[in-house]
Amino acid sequence: MGLQPKSKLNNIVLLQTVETQIIDSVVNHIEPLFNAYCKIEKFNLDLAFAYHQTRRQYNSTAILAYLKPITAKNAYSLAIVNQDLYTNNVTFVFGEAEVGGRVGIVSLARLNTKAKGDLSLLACKEVTHELGHIFGLRHCDNNRCVMNFSANLAEVERKSNKFCPDCAHSLAYLTFVNL
Ligand SMILES: [Zn+2]
Ligand SMILES: [Zn+2]
Repeated sequence: MGLQPKSKLNNIVLLQTVETQIIDSVVNHIEPLFNAYCKIEKFNLDLAFAYHQTRRQYNSTAILAYLKPITAKNAYSLAIVNQDLYTNNVTFVFGEAEVGGRVGIVSLARLNTKAKGDLSLLACKEVTHELGHIFGLRHCDNNRCVMNFSANLAEVERKSNKFCPDCAHSLAYLTFVNL
């Protein structure tokens, strides 16, 4: 991406309850992209506080609010869970993150593909998308770009796991300026 060398790595803590194989491909994908060191932690949090009885889903905004104060000042936290997520006025979300913030969450619940390898790829896309938000990026109109908004599984499948040149440029700028 033509970035200047950066002395300090971004510390990203991945809170996970999902399969190790998926986490491994996510780590391999995001470490070079975000100039990051990923630490994997077991996500032992009881999410009952975020559960909606009627919807039978978990409120991703409530989970982010919980994660925020427990995330170290020099790190970013992203939870990867199997629970189905929603936010207000939306049927479901693949994930949510604070734009320019420190916390994010991705759910694998709706990434139900037939082939196992595909799930890793789709997880990589969604984690990259939410981290892109954390590092200040907003949605992108390019439907191949990982920052393109996905309303359904077909749209996640269509986009790539990478940033378009515009987003890559902004990411480089935002990542260097914010830290
Ligand atoms: Zn988004
Ligand atoms: Zn883009």
